[in-house]
Amino acid sequence: MMLHADYIVNHIFSSRTYVLTADGTDDVWLVDCGDIDRVLDNIGDRMIMGVLLTHAHFDHIYGLPGLLKVFPDCVIYTNEFGIKALQDAKLNMSKYHGMPVVLDGNAVRMKVCGDSERIAMFDGVSAVCYETPGHNPSCLAFEVGEWLFTGDAYIPGTPVVTILPYADKAKAKESVERILKLAEGRTVMPGHDDQPPEWRLSI
Ligand SMILES: [Zn+2]
Repeated sequence: MMLHADYIVNHIFSSRTYVLTADGTDDVWLVDCGDIDRVLDNIGDRMIMGVLLTHAHFDHIYGLPGLLKVFPDCVIYTNEFGIKALQDAKLNMSKYHGMPVVLDGNAVRMKVCGDSERIAMFDGVSAVCYETPGHNPSCLAFEVGEWLFTGDAYIPGTPVVTILPYADKAKAKESVERILKLAEGRTVMPGHDDQPPEWRLSI
């Protein structure tokens, strides 16, 4: 099956929302979710089935409330910390941006994907999930076909940001090593278009 990965550079912090599609189906999957209006324009009549969340920081999740209004059954894949953070504007840092994102754990379908777990996406195509903590405990990398989505756990040419709450420098280093191994023969799809914005934040 032929897969396609587009991305949108979001207006907040140049984070990326990836739009994954496959020939022969109207199903759409996202990696992270920023400018939802632009995502909806991009997908037309197609349907968003799930979001693979690289981590639950504000700039990667602020489109989720808008997405869930249109696709309430859409499943969000993250880990235990991510599920907590999606329901807590302080943990996901949206509180500090005047745009609180607080998902309702009873209404929204949030699923934990464990390390090396597979998530069925398209016919015969799965994502494989890898824990890559350090930048944040919710950091996951996803391998889909020839791509490796790394979020902020690894942005080529940029040191991992470890100055934010819940960051862990030693774990970030281990995760980069892991990602570099996983990335062999694959294309790295990072979480930002350029330097991660967190450099400019002082909290
Ligand atoms: Zn981040």
